[in-house]
Amino acid sequence: MFLNNDYSLLTGVLIFVLRYCLIAGIAYFVFYVWKRKEYIHLKLNQKQPAFNQLKSELLYSATTLLIYSTSVFLLIYWYQNGYTKIYFKIETFGYSYFFLSILMMIVLHDTYFYWSHKIMHRLPFLFRFHKIHHFSHNPNPWSAFSFHPIEAIISLGIMPIILFVIPVHPYALIVFSTFVTLYNVYIHIGYKVNFLFMGSAIQNTAENHDLHHRLSKYNYGLYFSFWDRIMKTYK
Ligand SMILES: [Zn+2]
Ligand SMILES: [Zn+2]
Repeated sequence: MFLNNDYSLLTGVLIFVLRYCLIAGIAYFVFYVWKRKEYIHLKLNQKQPAFNQLKSELLYSATTLLIYSTSVFLLIYWYQNGYTKIYFKIETFGYSYFFLSILMMIVLHDTYFYWSHKIMHRLPFLFRFHKIHHFSHNPNPWSAFSFHPIEAIISLGIMPIILFVIPVHPYALIVFSTFVTLYNVYIHIGYKVNFLFMGSAIQNTAENHDLHHRLSKYNYGLYFSFWDRIMKTYK
């Protein structure tokens, strides 16, 4: 079913759109509606996101999710032409490798994100596209995938790097892409809260990314702060 053309768009829409609406929707409901007053002391920007910002985020997120959903066709094309290292029996490499492959995807993605993000800030013709994401001056769960379509395509560049290099099981890909969604919503939550408790020494937090939306030239990372610390862009 995963790599069958008949179901590909349906699978893509189900996985990307529903999953994002569920994760961002729950986070928004908890932090911006239900527990808003209770957690106000943890809010990084005391103002609520403006209506115009939310409207723009929902529109750009919709186009990003459409691009992500249709990328399933590309995955099928690569798979059918033998470009990928996708495997279907977990026993082929065992369960330890299954979890290791997820960790490898996260580390590779963090590196790809840091450098592509930093380049988008440094090159004016690319910043024209990335500035759409920075229109979210007051990040909230709906800012997570609010990208210009060109940035959405650039962000997908990690997929061939992973699929052509690392043997991955489709379930590992689903776990990884769910983690991408969860973590993106977390760093845009707009509250000083912890997630996963890896510790701020190695982890990129919601507070760090909020600072990135305000100051632009620091904290380019996604999950970790390694690259920011090595390249002296950590704040
Ligand atoms: Zn952001
Ligand atoms: Zn940026």
